[in-house]
Amino acid sequence: MLNNWYTELEGMYDQMVEWRRHLHQHPELSFEEVETPKMIAAILESYGIEVRTNVGGRGVVGTIRGAKPGKTIALRADFDALPIQDEKDVPYKSTVPGVMHACGHDGHTATLLAVAKVLSENRENLAGNVVLLHQHAEEKFPGGASAMIADGCLDGVDYVFGTHLAAQSPVGTYLYKSGYSMAAADGFEIKILGKGGHGASPHQTIDSVAIGAQIVSQLQQIVSRRIDPQKSAVVTIGSFHAGNAGNVIADSAILTGTVRTFDPEVRSFIEEEFKHIVKSICESFHADCKIQYQYGYPAVYNHEEETEIFTNVIKSGLDEKMLVEMPAIMGSEDFSYYLEKKPGMYFHTGAQNEEIGANYPHHHPRFDIDEKAMLFAGKALLGIVHQYVAESAVVPVEETVI
Ligand code: MN
Repeated sequence: MLNNWYTELEGMYDQMVEWRRHLHQHPELSFEEVETPKMIAAILESYGIEVRTNVGGRGVVGTIRGAKPGKTIALRADFDALPIQDEKDVPYKSTVPGVMHACGHDGHTATLLAVAKVLSENRENLAGNVVLLHQHAEEKFPGGASAMIADGCLDGVDYVFGTHLAAQSPVGTYLYKSGYSMAAADGFEIKILGKGGHGASPHQTIDSVAIGAQIVSQLQQIVSRRIDPQKSAVVTIGSFHAGNAGNVIADSAILTGTVRTFDPEVRSFIEEEFKHIVKSICESFHADCKIQYQYGYPAVYNHEEETEIFTNVIKSGLDEKMLVEMPAIMGSEDFSYYLEKKPGMYFHTGAQNEEIGANYPHHHPRFDIDEKAMLFAGKALLGIVHQYVAESAVVPVEETVI
């Protein structure tokens, strides 16, 4: 049966390319998506799929109900674009100045639409349901995932899976990691409030630049001296703005940066240490300070059993040689919110092909994908669905206790 699904997906390739290129030409920014969710809803409805729109704002949720009862598995594809000018020279280049699908979310959307079509035509073979999570605003905090969850997109869902196209890995590869695979990304702003004055009279001032320099250097001690060396974290001060002239002592300074972690305990420990260090340094120099510390997306945690199901899908039905265990990456993703609620996993599907210019990093003005990657992504998703809700599902449905 799975092979039939694969053949049906392959038969949709031209349609997938057309959808992807349409979206590529008409990208919409996070929290500003209007036409994209409309298009998704219209396509799903045309396949007789139950659709709920405006989920958590702009999300679209489709539900395919199988002929027999069973598990419910959710598949997610995000659909927002980025504030980047498209500099590619291709016929499907973005038509919107300064906006571009530079992360492959157009490909995610086209892939999930085609997967939906195949599954909707095989309802009689499904023992269980498939929920399609077409998510808005992945690229911009607070993101669409948490709002869609609050609006019930995971109600009744047993498992959740998703994939991201990866232009850094050859087309056809599948990258995965059990456990923590992507980092939590938090941000901060420190405002040091000192006392300005003449550069020749430091004793009459409170020098914000000197204090800021102490803070920058002390914050580096958190990772090197306070975190268990077996665990990983990043504390980066990305900007330090103060003063206008060489002979004037600046009365204030603003520092901003990012913190990346995996373990939730490390995450909250760094926040505490961070605030302790900044406050203590300011106090010791008689300065005031204001600290804003903002939690971003949590770390992506792939559940072990579901990761094993995924690797089995690739080994048994696709190509084991293309399976690559990847190291955890310090980038972040709001797919993590789904995995905080339900078992599941998030993998990456290679989309790199140097010959066609699809080898630029994500968020680059010349970013592109090898569109064949959509077939690989779609086949993996179909394979996963097959494991959970095909008539011959591998994952058993518990007997109902009355
Ligand atoms: Mn992305």
